Amino acid sequence: MSHKLETKAIRTQMERSQYLEHSTPLHLTSSFVFEDAEEMRAAFAEEKERNIYSRFTNPNTSELVEKVADMEGAEDGVAFATGMGAVFGTFAALLDSGDHIVSARSVFGSTHTLFTKFLPKWNIETSYFKVDEPEKAEALIQPNTKILYAETPTNPGVDVLDLSYLGDLAKKHNLILVIDNCFATPYLQQPIQFGADLVIHSATKLIDGQGRVLGGVTVGRKDLIREIYLFARNTGSSLSPFNAWVLSKSMETLPVRVDRHCQTALTVATFLEEHPQVNWVKYPFLKSHPQYELAKKQMSQGGSIIAFEVKGGLEAGRQFFDNIKLLSLSSNLGDSRTIVTHPASTTHSKLSVEDRLEVGITDGMVRLSIGLEHQEDIINDLKQALEAK
Ligand SMILES: *Cc1c(COP(=O)(O)O)cnc(C)c1O
Repeated sequence: MSHKLETKAIRTQMERSQYLEHSTPLHLTSSFVFEDAEEMRAAFAEEKERNIYSRFTNPNTSELVEKVADMEGAEDGVAFATGMGAVFGTFAALLDSGDHIVSARSVFGSTHTLFTKFLPKWNIETSYFKVDEPEKAEALIQPNTKILYAETPTNPGVDVLDLSYLGDLAKKHNLILVIDNCFATPYLQQPIQFGADLVIHSATKLIDGQGRVLGGVTVGRKDLIREIYLFARNTGSSLSPFNAWVLSKSMETLPVRVDRHCQTALTVATFLEEHPQVNWVKYPFLKSHPQYELAKKQMSQGGSIIAFEVKGGLEAGRQFFDNIKLLSLSSNLGDSRTIVTHPASTTHSKLSVEDRLEVGITDGMVRLSIGLEHQEDIINDLKQALEAK
């Protein structure tokens, strides 16, 4: 019987040990032992699924992967030390020299650096379509295109891309559709339902949700995951069992945390939209969001991230940041603590000004990752910072 997402987040668990522990134990071990030579041979020949060495698999990392895969409706998955480990591992395992990627322009800063600085070293080029012109993606497809890539909602612009459209396009041209689902989490959106072949998460963000550990996961089609697993297993960007244990425990509270994040985010976004010192606000479940209808179709709630612009450009933006008292000035997101980020001078500072403006990162733009504090305290801090003279 298939369970609901909230139940999967809690009840997907490894087999109990002889001690019949209730909570998942931590298996902090680099390797596993064998009964005899034959068992060892069979394990290495993969005749039997079992743990050999924690760079390959470990009960804690397997539990985390299984949980994310269950919630995403994926066949299988691989864990990585970080979200970028998952992004790079996915590309490195599936692409050959001479292959081509078609990607949305608006992607996480390090993913952009991967496309522009590192993948070209192996003769892998990327062509971009703007998030508000996804219909132009088809014209970018070449005979050597192998992967169609996007994030939705995007970081940091909070744009929403049409997953069914991308799914259909990938199917029509026989491309592998890879979606970075970090902002939505496996609780709010399951891209595989819309035709994605692979889904990537930076578990560092809402999956941990408390800003403690780094981690990444790629889940999806079994045949593709097999290649990604072999890459991860042989190149060493494996997730530590301790981090996997933390992340799997965190997943148990992901649905309740994300419910609260979303509820508060919608209230804060509405407050900002009405504030005279704010030029614009972007939040997927605000009616003013250009892709509001689409967001409602593919996400169950709007998520925890808001983008907005303070009136008065760079100087006013800087003043706003300097006046924040309670909230954290930091570059992380998806934390129990509300975080205020200035993408133009931090996470996306490596982009040229033109590239930044093309993805909507103006000098006065603020990215707000709504935490779990009381909504009145969050609003009061934002209000006094916006109104400080
Ligand atoms: C943070 C982030 C990543 C990278 O994850 P790390 O765990 O920091 O390596 C990738 N994609 C998105 C959308 C992110 O927000």
